[in-house]
Amino acid sequence: MVTLAREARELTQADLAQRLGISQGLMSKIENGIVQTPAPVLEGLASTLGFPEAFFLQPDSIHGVGTDTFHQMYRRRKALPMKTLKRIEARVNISRMHADRMLKAVNIEPGHGIPRLEVDDFDGDIERIAATVRASWLLPSGPVDNVVKCIEDAGGMVIPFDFGTQQVDATSLRYRDLPPLMFQSNHLLGDRQRFTLSHELGHMVMHSVVPNANMEKEADRFAAEFLMPAQEIGPQLVNLTLHRAAQLKRYWRVSMAAIIYRASSLAKITENQARYLRIQMGTAGLRTREPVELDVPVERPRLQRELIELHLKDLGYSASELCMTLASTPQDFAELHMDTLPMAYRAGFLSASDVRGENVVELPRRK
Ligand SMILES: [Zn+2]
Repeated sequence: MVTLAREARELTQADLAQRLGISQGLMSKIENGIVQTPAPVLEGLASTLGFPEAFFLQPDSIHGVGTDTFHQMYRRRKALPMKTLKRIEARVNISRMHADRMLKAVNIEPGHGIPRLEVDDFDGDIERIAATVRASWLLPSGPVDNVVKCIEDAGGMVIPFDFGTQQVDATSLRYRDLPPLMFQSNHLLGDRQRFTLSHELGHMVMHSVVPNANMEKEADRFAAEFLMPAQEIGPQLVNLTLHRAAQLKRYWRVSMAAIIYRASSLAKITENQARYLRIQMGTAGLRTREPVELDVPVERPRLQRELIELHLKDLGYSASELCMTLASTPQDFAELHMDTLPMAYRAGFLSASDVRGENVVELPRRK
């Protein structure tokens, strides 16, 4: 937990030791659990890192997380600095622990479930896997009405998340005892959000057991077929023009770039036509930002918001009591959950975070 808190704040072990006025050797031994943390050091950790003392006493295990960007249509992923990756990993773990605590109060219906399908069982036919998921969820033909709702209805949990970098779009995690979690950048526009979540869904369905070298391509193929079934969109893509791509964007609620890519991969346009369309997009400045008037509404996850509301409203938790339960400061809570925090309660957390720490002095110790 000390390591997690330190990495959440992007500090090195040496930095933290220095701020606490202790040797790095002692810091290292504390992090490795070789020595008990002396009480004054625990206090120092809490105030330096901005976590209540109870945070450091939690028994949870920590999991590594991957990060996902998508490469084909948008930007290439550059290597993220290690400390950024560590920070993301730490904050995802903390958010996962919050979900775990809050889910204790409810029984989540598993819904139809997110199926697990092996690529080999489908002879590599990713499109048939996507069609199988659509069918098992009884989705009607045409565009997917709401990707977030599909995932949450199937028992997954979508968590809007500030990765602190534009380079990461999403990551997803599957643990025992928890619904599948999808962390999604809260900076995404609606079209990209839908594609990203469909891509993550593809990972969840196909890659839950063994990762492989083709998995990013497979997840993109899954997303394309899930959002734009070839059989339906195919005939609409013949001799695609930019104008037509814009119309199709409105209908399918995917980016124009995704539609052009789809037309090309389904061989409805030639490679030359695809290149020409991309040049037109570039000339019109649409490769960095597609027309505002075509914006696809961002989809709002429901589950996390309902969990928070359940505690604050039905279970009568105050903002600081909920923070105690989560071993969080109001400030961190607000940062992690602002997107889903019900409007009616925002003020409570915001004012609580102004007096950071003062509301969480009486913290229950774990046995
Ligand atoms: Zn991926």
